[in-house]
Amino acid sequence: MRVLVIEDDPNLSRQLASALDSAGYVVESATDGEQGHFLGDTSDFDAVVLDLGLPGMNGIDVLRKWRDAGRSMPVLILTARDLWSDKVAGIDAGADDYLAKPFHMAELLARVRALIRRSAGRADPVLVSGAIRFDTRSGTTTRDGVPVILTTFEQRLLQFLMHRTGHIVGRSEIIEHIYAQDFDRDSNTVEVFVRRLRLKLGSDSIETVRGQGYRMPQGDGSPPTGAGRDTTGTG
Ligand code: CA
Repeated sequence: MRVLVIEDDPNLSRQLASALDSAGYVVESATDGEQGHFLGDTSDFDAVVLDLGLPGMNGIDVLRKWRDAGRSMPVLILTARDLWSDKVAGIDAGADDYLAKPFHMAELLARVRALIRRSAGRADPVLVSGAIRFDTRSGTTTRDGVPVILTTFEQRLLQFLMHRTGHIVGRSEIIEHIYAQDFDRDSNTVEVFVRRLRLKLGSDSIETVRGQGYRMPQGDGSPPTGAGRDTTGTG
């Protein structure tokens, strides 16, 4: 999952990036409104943390321009303490949640998790696909109740797929959401990680939908209807 952080305070920006990175997100950072607006306008993010007081273009204007252009990613705004008018303006401009500075990083992470879950239409912090459960709070995975140890990239891929259970996810979409912008994005590595996840989670855990991408079964594991099912694990 990719998170965009737009914050001009270098210390806070670093802390946010580090905390989100440790929580398993791919983080892109911007330090002014113009650059932040551009990133959010031209590439897909699963959530945005947006400071309101920014040089260049202020946070309210950044948010309003995105919403006017139909960009609907969840946005958490950071406001100065006690400035209730900022919260109102931010929510009116299309913010999904807000947090007043100073805040506890654990609370920010919890709010970002909840925003991403809700935007994927999932209320429960534990995502379920067949025998597999992924706890978004702890980042832990189990199969039939038994813990499964995943590497960072395996976990990023699984988390992304599990937020979209029942839907087909294309390879380019996966690459966009599990790698940072400046990372060497070799699409073959997606296949490698899918293969590894199948080894750890079971060959039927991730379906290949020929020519389109991958899909994890929704809920208790009854396979979604549709053509092109291929669980041989070849692709
Ligand atoms: Ca600021």
